[in-house]
Amino acid sequence: MAIKHITRQDTPTTQEHEPTTNDSFDVIIVGARVAGCATAALLAQQGARVLLLERSTFPAPTVSCPIFYGNSMAVLERIGVLADIEAIGAPQIRYYGVRTEQFDMVARLPASHGRDYAYSIRREVMDAAILARIRSYPNITVREGFNVTGLLWAHGRVVGVRGRPHGRSEQACYARAVIGADGKRSFVGRAVGAQIYAAHPNPSCIYYAYYRNFAPLHEPSAVVYASLKETGRGVLVFDADADLTVVSVGIPVAEFETARKDPEGIMQQVWQSFPEVAERGRNAERVTPIMGQGPVDSFYRQSYGPGWALVGDAGHYIDPITGQGINYALRGAELLAEAWARWNAPGARLNWCSAMAHYQAQRDGETRPHYDLYELGSSIEQVQDLGINIGELLLRAISRRPSLATRYAGMANGATPVREFLHPLNLARILVEDALLYELPARAAQLAPVRGGPMPAPAGA
Ligand SMILES: Cc1cc2nc3c(=O)[nH]c(=O)nc-3n(C[C@H](O)[C@H](O)[C@H](O)COP(=O)(O)OP(=O)(O)OC[C@H]3O[C@@H](n4cnc5c(N)ncnc54)[C@H](O)[C@@H]3O)c2cc1C
Repeated sequence: MAIKHITRQDTPTTQEHEPTTNDSFDVIIVGARVAGCATAALLAQQGARVLLLERSTFPAPTVSCPIFYGNSMAVLERIGVLADIEAIGAPQIRYYGVRTEQFDMVARLPASHGRDYAYSIRREVMDAAILARIRSYPNITVREGFNVTGLLWAHGRVVGVRGRPHGRSEQACYARAVIGADGKRSFVGRAVGAQIYAAHPNPSCIYYAYYRNFAPLHEPSAVVYASLKETGRGVLVFDADADLTVVSVGIPVAEFETARKDPEGIMQQVWQSFPEVAERGRNAERVTPIMGQGPVDSFYRQSYGPGWALVGDAGHYIDPITGQGINYALRGAELLAEAWARWNAPGARLNWCSAMAHYQAQRDGETRPHYDLYELGSSIEQVQDLGINIGELLLRAISRRPSLATRYAGMANGATPVREFLHPLNLARILVEDALLYELPARAAQLAPVRGGPMPAPAGA
């Protein structure tokens, strides 16, 4: 069984250099998955000459079992790749939500950007389809198998990269700007010494695999099975391309050291502990290795400086459990491209750092509500310490009202603003309405005399 854990990369190096070569571009983008391809396309649409460098050779898997929604599809459409993604033929996931021993909050996804469904496509398939389309842009040059190993500087500004194309000698490439779309351990980010900010630990780690013959629900779905008794453990089951089903198990970080010794054992143990999942998976066969990711902090990384910028996971990494990484990588590419347009406009006075500072501020503002879910989780735990299981009360209240379950599901695809739904006043309202609609009538019914029907009115009323 192959278990792939994230490993540290080599220490980045930098080098003073004068640009002397003809191999020159407007922008060099390091990393050619979602963030890199989207940024390349959006800058190429503005006429930029783009060099896109990727150390892997596609199709290549990566540690990720994504589900993505209408908001991501809107960006994929704008960069011209949505038709290729649709052609893969993955099932349209229309039901999304959480099931516990007591509550069922699975609801139809509301529409987001005109689409009321999600897709899950294996990364090696999806990323290869995106890159194939990006390659057809006349002003994008793609070099796969090109490992960027250093940045080139002139007068305190990044002016290019050097790297080693597969099996060949080192090369230097120059551009007006270098963008790191090179993932959470960003080489570019480390080479420029970009600072991490607002980091926080994540509560769980993930193991996942793809299965065949996993019994579907009535329609393609993505269901989180969670336990109110065994907090921190859960399993997300969703339908993917090629008739496969993703089983993604979350366990508390405290269990990681034990789990890593026997990932297969922990996977089986967790998903089989949920009777419905065990039943659905009775005849299932695992067709991929188990992949895993240990504890990784969420973070923001300073995402611009003289001649450089970061996009996607390189600049902002969010707990995969939120299922938002691809959406924010694509949206970040859009915001960066808008900043590029302002900087690059004829006669523009805006310098690079001012334009990119605006990009970073917008990105942080838009991503913060999902990012701050961690703090909400911590405050709910604190209330639980007082003996009130507020999380359970909320789940029950939401599960009782289909309109709320739909709004809850809409937080995943952007149809429901996270900050609005999870605002303390809204949560309080949900609890009060639940009490008025269900709890108080139920109590009143219990208090009614067994034989006498409704309680008599008090004397003198
Ligand atoms: C277990 C797991 C489950 C997830 N599930 C979901 C989900 O359900 N939904 C969702 O939206 N997101 C999910 N994510 C998050 C999602 O995978 C990421 O947010 C997304 O891949 C970020 O894309 P990116 O392009 O920024 O970076 P990456 O996908 O990390 O791509 C970076 C690329 O840069 C290349 N690169 C790195 N260094 C160099 C170098 N020096 N030279 C050349 N190339 C280089 C790498 O080879 C890589 O191809 C999940 C993540 C994990 C780990």
